[in-house]
Amino acid sequence: MTSKTLGAALVLCGLGAAACGGTAGASPARDSGPVSHEVTSAAGSVRDASLAATGTPAPAAGSTKAQPLSGKVVVIDPGHNGLNGKHPEVVNKQVNVLTKWKPCDTTGTETPGGYSEAAFSWDVSQRMAKILRDRGATVKLTRKNNSGVGPCITERAAIGNEAKADAVISVHGDGSGSANHGFHVIMPKKINGPVDPVVGASRKLGLAVREAYKAGTGLPYSTYIGSKALDFRDDLGGLNLSTVPKVFIECGNMKNPGEAAKFQDPAFRQKVALSLANGMQNYLK
Ligand SMILES: [Zn+2]
Repeated sequence: MTSKTLGAALVLCGLGAAACGGTAGASPARDSGPVSHEVTSAAGSVRDASLAATGTPAPAAGSTKAQPLSGKVVVIDPGHNGLNGKHPEVVNKQVNVLTKWKPCDTTGTETPGGYSEAAFSWDVSQRMAKILRDRGATVKLTRKNNSGVGPCITERAAIGNEAKADAVISVHGDGSGSANHGFHVIMPKKINGPVDPVVGASRKLGLAVREAYKAGTGLPYSTYIGSKALDFRDDLGGLNLSTVPKVFIECGNMKNPGEAAKFQDPAFRQKVALSLANGMQNYLK
């Protein structure tokens, strides 16, 4: 179901799996996506010197040691955006994701304490970008801050394609029932469309991300979606329109009090970022 109004989008996203990442086949109102006045440019635009601790041994100054991800291009897609909720005219615009029409983007969910999925995905994505750059990768993000709107899910996919990314990850937190918990990875299915040639590679990326995330964060596989934290969907524009290997991760359930507390802890978000970076690297090497 595509929400016609922002209110509806919010409800959808807050109530469930379905909306925020959700259950395959159960009308996801979300994916990521919207509008782009601010498509981030390139690598480097989101460097933040304050995100120093990366968990990766930084090369010593002057080191000539080869970087493990040198020559690799990674695109990170932080789900949603901080002002999506204030711009229903933008995010509710319907876009074609090949298997259906759906809103350009959604607002995302939030923890019971009001920490938004957009802020979470932005913070984790910046941390991951820093880690991957320190390892030699060229990293691009699909948005340049958390104070804008969009871009549309279709544009988010296009950014990865245009970058000819070796791997893309879209970062989310789910909004399911409060008793549900755990993380899951979402991978594309064949749709007789542009994603078909990278469905196999995306599955490999998804497996690598699942292993690294479980090991690095200690979070369990989702108790409510998928099988062993793996879900395959054909309704997400960010996946259907990708011509490069791409997965989504629902890092956990933001409505679950235990996981919400973890997500609100910067030290845990660093673990999330490091785990995701490790998963990307394991796939790329
Ligand atoms: Zn999301």
